[in-house]
Amino acid sequence: MKITRIAGFNPGPYTGAGNNTYLLPGREPALIDAATGESRHLAALDEALGNASLSRVLVTHAHPDHASGAVGLAARWMDASFFKLPWPERDREYRVAWRPLAEGDIVDVGDGALRVLHTPGHAPDHVCFFDEAEGTLFCGDLLIQGGTVVVPASYGGSLTDYLASLARVRELRPARVLPAHGPEIDDVTALIDQYVAHRGRRDDEILSALRRGHTTQAAIVEVVYPHLAAELRGAAGESVLAHLHKLEAEGAARRHNAMWQAV
Ligand SMILES: [Zn+2]
Repeated sequence: MKITRIAGFNPGPYTGAGNNTYLLPGREPALIDAATGESRHLAALDEALGNASLSRVLVTHAHPDHASGAVGLAARWMDASFFKLPWPERDREYRVAWRPLAEGDIVDVGDGALRVLHTPGHAPDHVCFFDEAEGTLFCGDLLIQGGTVVVPASYGGSLTDYLASLARVRELRPARVLPAHGPEIDDVTALIDQYVAHRGRRDDEILSALRRGHTTQAAIVEVVYPHLAAELRGAAGESVLAHLHKLEAEGAARRHNAMWQAV
């Protein structure tokens, strides 16, 4: 399968250098992720398509840097179809006629096909797309080379689900992994093992903070992320909450009103 990376031209504190989208040319010219509708993204896509017309857009999840560009793509390529796993209250913010995907679906794209893998955790609707013929995985926001992935606990994120999704992809042993942010993943097994170890250490730090009497989410953020830039504090709070929910589900922590304690 031919794959052309097309930059989203939307750099920022949460998107790094900006999103990657991937054009799969062929019988069904398809784009993985819609980015944000930047005019430079549309122009680059136009150029990469040549004389072809965009036929399908497959979106990994409803976060705006992946989905909001659907509106601009639909205006430019009026015959294109838009696919994602439903998250109705978010999807309706992007006014295109979404076609629902489900776990295990096979979607024809380019000159091949992709299997839909539901991989929740970063978002409840998050999917990866897997080219079984070549072993290429489009992993969306599941993995980022050289960084960690935010699990926004107040906005549908679940660390328990995220770790299960990581285990599933590790088991899959994809030959090639193309993320929505940053460079191609060079060693997916090593990166997942690193993520799992990092999350385990974070669990321990949070339990230790609870035992030392830091009982609110804000107090734990202060202890666990002592020198954090102000614009990243919201994400850190979400991450701490995601760990607390996981520890609660495992019976290692419990909540009373806004106060947490280790069990
Ligand atoms: Zn995301």
